[in-house]
Amino acid sequence: MTDLELLNLAVNAMENAYSPYSEFKVGAALLCENGDVYCGANIENSSYSATICAERVALFKAVSDRQTSFKSMAVVGCYPVKTQDFCYPCGVCLQTLREFCAPDFKIITANSLGDIKEFTLKELLPYGFSLGR
Ligand SMILES: [Zn+2]
Repeated sequence: MTDLELLNLAVNAMENAYSPYSEFKVGAALLCENGDVYCGANIENSSYSATICAERVALFKAVSDRQTSFKSMAVVGCYPVKTQDFCYPCGVCLQTLREFCAPDFKIITANSLGDIKEFTLKELLPYGFSLGR
């Protein structure tokens, strides 16, 4: 699975977003160490705090299938009118990833022009909380 293939799966997942309030669609594709891929889209709620991000949807789907070893995640997002902005995981998602992923876990994002950026989890969350696991 190449980074570009993972990004394309995230783009496809983005179409499944339920985002009637923000109209901001996000898609994520999570690559497991065994090669399986789990996708997710953001799911908003009338009670805004019940909203969940695409990244955590993908991660929770994977963990609920007993997957706990991950290589990388692709994340994309946009409003109906596409911009050149990149979509980065929020702090809650980074902390959630921190629970299961190594510091060198790769996070890939792309904008609507096809420009790609890659980071490690450690770069985006240098001091994540941990109980020592
Ligand atoms: Zn998030």
